[in-house]
Amino acid sequence: MSRVRDNIDVYRRLCVECGTCRKVCPSYRHGGCDPLAVMLGDNSKVFDCVGCGNCTRACHHTNPKIVMLAAYSIVLDMPVSQAFLDTGYTRYPSDDAPGADLEPTWTGDDVYVMPGCVAKCVVPYVVYATSSAMGHMGVGACELPGFTCCMYPVQFGTMQDEERIGYITRMGETAGGRRMVNLCGGCTEIMSRHGVECQHLIPFLHSRMDALPRAEKPLKVSVEPGCAAVEHMDEMVEVVERMGFEHVGNEPGCCGKNSRNTAAALMAERQSAAADADLVVVGCPMCQSKYDSVPGGKPVVYLTELVAAAFGDRRSLGCHTIPVPEF
Ligand code: SF4
Ligand code: SF4
Repeated sequence: MSRVRDNIDVYRRLCVECGTCRKVCPSYRHGGCDPLAVMLGDNSKVFDCVGCGNCTRACHHTNPKIVMLAAYSIVLDMPVSQAFLDTGYTRYPSDDAPGADLEPTWTGDDVYVMPGCVAKCVVPYVVYATSSAMGHMGVGACELPGFTCCMYPVQFGTMQDEERIGYITRMGETAGGRRMVNLCGGCTEIMSRHGVECQHLIPFLHSRMDALPRAEKPLKVSVEPGCAAVEHMDEMVEVVERMGFEHVGNEPGCCGKNSRNTAAALMAERQSAAADADLVVVGCPMCQSKYDSVPGGKPVVYLTELVAAAFGDRRSLGCHTIPVPEF
């Protein structure tokens, strides 16, 4: 029996202390997490890690992100939350969440959509918009039945691996060979690592470009796939351009998530990157909630909201804090 946190030294031993992870770490740039120090054994330096994965993408020797997540779980030492035990999500779904009153309009079961905890509990209007977009595109889709938490390691550091992985593999079994589409790149990353066949929404839409609508009033957009889906940046740009939008050419980055000391600085960078855009388009429910809570910030839509609204269904956009322009 082992836990996420027990395997940490296997990855640490492979570190050659080159410091590349530091150079690419957005949190370190703003005085937050120090990935090299964490790799050398100082778990206290993991605070403000946003889990972006830049360190692992840049490292040629080991997997620092796995160490960061495990170290974070050690430092937090959080028991499995009551919300998860009660609902199967890491937080409680709320009737007060924006869009909780919008009933999804699923049209079939050829494709299972796995929303993840943030879409389900924080921005449920994204789930509604996804059902609308899928229906208009002629995709028979519905929500994956049962609990749909990807078991992101930080919150489950005290759980035995066998139990945690059991939850993940059961989602694959529930899908029963049907295509599974994730709304969050973090879910795709964790589930794929444990052998569950699934795909992030961006490549899914990219593989169905012929079914995408054209916007009546194309806007300038900046594009943010989200840290865990950053490999799909080019596909996401092609999707929005296919719909008639003009990409302002921004490089993708991290919204700052819930980082205590660096979130504001990281979000300020993203707002600056979107300076020439009328609208930010995101591929991550966490990004959606964070951008939409910036006072005076750029309007933002999750990618399926863009599709649903271009088909004429703007209901989800009425749930936003920052008004979204016509397109
Ligand atoms: S984790 Fe990788 S990138 Fe960071 S110091 Fe070690 S070997 Fe270098
Ligand atoms: S996951 Fe991102 S924030 Fe965390 S240490 Fe790696 S690069 Fe830094």
